[in-house]
Amino acid sequence: MALKYTNKINKIRTFALSLVFIGILIMYLGLIFKSTPVVMTILMMVGFLAIIASTLVYFWIGMLSTKTIQVVCPSCEKPTKVLGRVDACMHCNQPLTMDKELEGKEFNEDYNKKSTQS
Ligand SMILES: [Zn+2]
Repeated sequence: MALKYTNKINKIRTFALSLVFIGILIMYLGLIFKSTPVVMTILMMVGFLAIIASTLVYFWIGMLSTKTIQVVCPSCEKPTKVLGRVDACMHCNQPLTMDKELEGKEFNEDYNKKSTQS
């Protein structure tokens, strides 16, 4: 069983993009309920909030990007961004680590959580 790791920045970006689509979809659903203004208003509000949330997530990515370390992936030799102690390459999903202690160890996303807790 091969576990698939994806780059965090890419993951968040995908999430933000799907939020936009969900927001548009909810607002579109609101148009179906034109005859019931209350439902339409609620759906429009929720959809609008989803789009606002995605904007905030995009802003958050921008903030996170300043904290990432640019490295050249040893596997595909493309420049990639590493966020946290362990992350995957943006292009080939090769697990990468910033911590010498973790080098050679099996890739585990939990290393990031532990580092924030202690
Ligand atoms: Zn790579």
